[in-house]
Amino acid sequence: MLYQKEEPILNGQSSCAENFRCAFSPATFDLSAQVAIEKISELLRREKIEGVTLEQPEDLMSEARGLMTAHSGSDAPFDPERFSKIIDLYFRTSIKVGSTGYMARQFSSVFPVAAVFDMITAISPQPASFYEAGQLANVADKIIAEEFARRIGWDPDTCDMITTSGGSLANLTAVLAARNDRLYASWKTGVTRRNGTPAIAVGDDIHYSVCRVPGIIGIGQDNIIRLPLNDRRQICVRRAIPILREALAEGKDIFCLVISAGTTPVGAIDPLEELADFAEEHGIWLHVDAAHCGAFLLSERLRPRLRGIERADSFCIDAHKTLFVPALCTLLFYRDRAKARGAFSQEASYVFDHHENSMTRFESGAKNFECTKRPAILNLWLIWAMFGPQVIAQKLEYLVDLTWDAYSYLSSLPDFATVHEPEANILCFEYKPKGLDSIQISELQLALRDAIRDGGRFFISKVEIEGRNVLRIVMMNHEIEMDHIAALIFEIRSRAAEIMKSWEVRALDATMVAQ
Ligand SMILES: *Cc1c(COP(=O)(O)O)cnc(C)c1O
Repeated sequence: MLYQKEEPILNGQSSCAENFRCAFSPATFDLSAQVAIEKISELLRREKIEGVTLEQPEDLMSEARGLMTAHSGSDAPFDPERFSKIIDLYFRTSIKVGSTGYMARQFSSVFPVAAVFDMITAISPQPASFYEAGQLANVADKIIAEEFARRIGWDPDTCDMITTSGGSLANLTAVLAARNDRLYASWKTGVTRRNGTPAIAVGDDIHYSVCRVPGIIGIGQDNIIRLPLNDRRQICVRRAIPILREALAEGKDIFCLVISAGTTPVGAIDPLEELADFAEEHGIWLHVDAAHCGAFLLSERLRPRLRGIERADSFCIDAHKTLFVPALCTLLFYRDRAKARGAFSQEASYVFDHHENSMTRFESGAKNFECTKRPAILNLWLIWAMFGPQVIAQKLEYLVDLTWDAYSYLSSLPDFATVHEPEANILCFEYKPKGLDSIQISELQLALRDAIRDGGRFFISKVEIEGRNVLRIVMMNHEIEMDHIAALIFEIRSRAAEIMKSWEVRALDATMVAQ
């Protein structure tokens, strides 16, 4: 059924040549932009509290297919009405980052002007890897790197920063640089041994992308050493150090330690200074996955939470998460500029010049896996140029404060339990009505997440902590206030009452069947 013979996508009444002309014409831009701007403007002003609308994929697919088939009635090859319907369909099925009911994940609304600029950079490309193709993009990389270097306390002339499409790729690139630096010659001859079996160590809540890296770079999944967490879900240094020492003594050559500044489940920041001490003492490369909390560097008030990050060999920040620019834009920093080239030491004469000159010195192609790449850094540079970085800091501070207020409030309620003290804008908690055992409590959180999502007003997530489900909210929208948290609590209580009622009915049915 789904794979019927496709009908021609062309509008029946326009000729092929006319259609082609129209597809590339500036007039089509004018018309489509007009439609789009109106729609976006409406979206940004929408005040509805909404979660997510999940459609059945088959239904969505046939609706999307319906928009692809020719229909009569219009003479113009570009049908603004169909375009308008396509935008509506996109907005209907996308994440409601502008809603005060959306608290599920690390997606944020972006600065609207950055989104507009994203269109500029799509229309007129500056592929960002090589200077001759992306001049402003490469200069902007340097400017942003210098701005951050000042805040980290690094010398802008000796550190380096590249942008990657996502934190996952940044983590892979950093660990690869670590491998090539510490297990010297690995790039050329295959993974080399130094004094034992190459291994990396990570915190137990590390992002899954990091756990894939050993498989990718030839270290092997068996050579990941996972470090235990304390009750704030940070690496527990007291228990981690003996584990690390023991692994070293047993012949694991830990060449890289990857820790977090803002874990994905709860936003925990590992003890950076103490772990930097250990790494330094043992010649281990320290990479901090600061995808989530690295943005704290921009806030005078939040920056002290990252004390110790200046001792890392590398760290990354997801600008598309907590710097509020369009995805994807990740900043990967190296303390030592010379090490940045080590991730991909390679010769490819068609793009790489052997001798650095005044231009190639500015480009990142040799240090990055990507070739063609959107100049996403320009959106961040633009915000800096138009408003200054304080607008980012202001939003971050609000979100972190709001999360703390939500934590204090939930802690005061007898039927709720918080799971951790929040260090960032992520909060995990449980709804714990009386009379349920621990298995039922865990089941209830999962059922609650689903029921709340299906209700369509709020969208929250869940994570597994120590084998049980807990609810999780991520504050990414500065329009959320404590009233919205109170409304969410009301929603949780009433949905839970319905769920428990259905459980009672089910139990009753089961006993009747048994009789
Ligand atoms: C989101 C996230 C990542 C992955 O980044 P992408 O940009 O989604 O590839 C890695 N680490 C942490 C801590 C994250 O929050």
